[in-house]
Amino acid sequence: MKLVIVGGGFCGSFIAKKFDGKSGYEVLLIDKKGYFEYSPGLIRMIGDPEYHEKITVPYTEILKESKFVKAEVESITPEEVRTGSDTFRYDHLTICPGISYPVYLERKEDVHTISSGREVKRLNQDLKKGDHVLIVGGGLIGTEAAAELAAKYDDLDITVVHSHDRLIERNPKLSSSLAESFLRKKDVDIVFGERVVDREKGRFLTSKNREIKADVVVWAAGIGRDTQFMQDFRAEIRADDGSLKVNDHLQLNGGGRTYEHIFAGGDITDIEEEKTAHNALRHARLICKNIERSRKNKSLKTYSVQKNPILLSLGRKNSLLIYPPYGFQGRLPALIEWVVERAGITFFQM
Ligand SMILES: Cc1cc2nc3c(=O)[nH]c(=O)nc-3n(C[C@H](O)[C@H](O)[C@H](O)COP(=O)(O)OP(=O)(O)OC[C@H]3O[C@@H](n4cnc5c(N)ncnc54)[C@H](O)[C@@H]3O)c2cc1C
Repeated sequence: MKLVIVGGGFCGSFIAKKFDGKSGYEVLLIDKKGYFEYSPGLIRMIGDPEYHEKITVPYTEILKESKFVKAEVESITPEEVRTGSDTFRYDHLTICPGISYPVYLERKEDVHTISSGREVKRLNQDLKKGDHVLIVGGGLIGTEAAAELAAKYDDLDITVVHSHDRLIERNPKLSSSLAESFLRKKDVDIVFGERVVDREKGRFLTSKNREIKADVVVWAAGIGRDTQFMQDFRAEIRADDGSLKVNDHLQLNGGGRTYEHIFAGGDITDIEEEKTAHNALRHARLICKNIERSRKNKSLKTYSVQKNPILLSLGRKNSLLIYPPYGFQGRLPALIEWVVERAGITFFQM
């Protein structure tokens, strides 16, 4: 059976590894990069570009017997996947391209996202340009980025602009106040209830006409879903925000039709839950079971949304463990976070 996997992040790499070398399966993984990147570890690369080596595993190392193609997928049909130069037919397909992190400004120079190792390396270069850093967005990534910068650089003048009235607002209030007091102790300025909407000569303007001087900007507000490659399917398989609609078995599903041989997993799905690596791996495990079960004509397993603990890094020696309604901050959560990172990467290396 030909199993094609689009996207080798948490979800796709897990599935590829599980079926690699399994009898009866011919596995092909397609990704535009040549390696798996442990994205929660990207924060550690701020000020330490060499850390990239510690959080990446080449796909050729993950896969012992399966095929890997480094290419961008341009279109998918119910029978085949097309890149710029090749077409691959499949029996089963898993779509897991993750999400993107767009910058909502016309002029994007000196504006960075923490979306890939390459991006963080560019940010590190630009940090040499000046000491005023603006972080747009106080969600998980913006808060972690502010904490990492504040913990590593004493001389930076850091401002966080967040459109809500507290940091990481989808989490319990206690964790928001712990994160806020950590940043305030490190002298980070936080502006609540405003959005960055424009820029002018080294100054960034907010929705309330506040001017903020910034030499470098980290943009961590808003996400995008690039699923243009699904245009051969009926429009209803995509939600308004571009995410892919799935049924309880994580099969592509929309407009009254279920594509029984196509699964989607990870951040790209329209499931209402936090977009986390933990959830992407839960999807991957279920998809593996369901591919096997559908081959054997067994009834498929069902996905259920769960509330999971979240680890938020506040500099290298300090993390926040959020376990609703609780929040614990300190070295122990930082140690747990480090162990989770090492275990996650070792899994893909073995
Ligand atoms: C800075 C940062 C910190 C984070 N911290 C945490 C955390 O502490 N805990 C947590 O649980 N989660 C965290 N997350 C979220 C977590 O990384 C994501 O939820 C997880 O990576 C989603 O997995 P995925 O498999 O859906 O997609 P991804 O891991 O994003 O992988 C998608 C893959 O698809 C490939 N791809 C995309 N489009 C195409 C295409 N057209 N053709 C070919 N290949 C394509 C990409 O190259 C990529 O390899 C963090 C994310 C970031 C960015």
